[in-house]
Amino acid sequence: MQPSIVNLKSQIENPFTFSQSSLQDYADCPRRFQLRYIEQLAWPAVETEPAIENERHQQEGVLFHRLVQQHLIGLPAEKLARLANTPDLRRWWGNWQDFRSLADLGSLYPELTLSAPLGEHRLLAKYDLVAVQPDKKVLIFDWKTYRKRPRDEWMATRLQTRVYRALLIQAGAHLNKQTPFQPEKIEMIYWYADFPAEPARFPYTASYYERDWDALTSLATEIAARRDFPLTANEEKCAYCPYRSYCNRGTQAGDMDDIETELSGVEIDFEQIQEIEL
Ligand code: SF4
Repeated sequence: MQPSIVNLKSQIENPFTFSQSSLQDYADCPRRFQLRYIEQLAWPAVETEPAIENERHQQEGVLFHRLVQQHLIGLPAEKLARLANTPDLRRWWGNWQDFRSLADLGSLYPELTLSAPLGEHRLLAKYDLVAVQPDKKVLIFDWKTYRKRPRDEWMATRLQTRVYRALLIQAGAHLNKQTPFQPEKIEMIYWYADFPAEPARFPYTASYYERDWDALTSLATEIAARRDFPLTANEEKCAYCPYRSYCNRGTQAGDMDDIETELSGVEIDFEQIQEIEL
């Protein structure tokens, strides 16, 4: 039976804590934001086929993040390597070991959570790794386990790229002797576990920071003022969305083999996934 979509709640709580995931969902489809963050509906439909394969890939991605985090806080690589017990995990872990042995990253802050006021609301982000180097250059790392390497132009427009750099300036002064980092010292790096030699790097500037913070504040204000959250006009996004059945946008999941990273709703959302015990 078709789930009902009448009588949805139509207003965010005030104050509301935004994240890059919730802002990205809103940018992709206001209705998805409403269903996920206002109604807090669980994931009712398979996002991509084959479902089991996709779920396994997501779980491996979560475990990979946990392994890297444990390694960064000092657990021995040999012990952690035993937990990399699938072909994907073994490959990613091997690539990570090569990457780490080459890098002198400075002071490391793995799994760092930062938050700051965003207008009347708050903005929160969980960073995979922030590395403060002796020359005060600061690197934001995010590990990605995508099957395909996305275009840099697409990653540059992701709200994660904009949120993480701007929020580090807003909320990261305690990592820099109580002084906000200069935008020009910040760089965001997406490290792709399956493409370890091709990270995507995004430096920052004061004008980008100003643009980003203004845009994020305006976006939060816009969402807070909304009383209706329309379905996206771009129905291609629905093929990979778990809320298809709520929106009468089809019941058949998109095929993983056909997926364009640009359209994927399958990014691992750590705010929705429980910690894995190692
Ligand atoms: S199925 Fe389509 S319209 Fe519905 S929430 Fe998902 S992306 Fe939006």
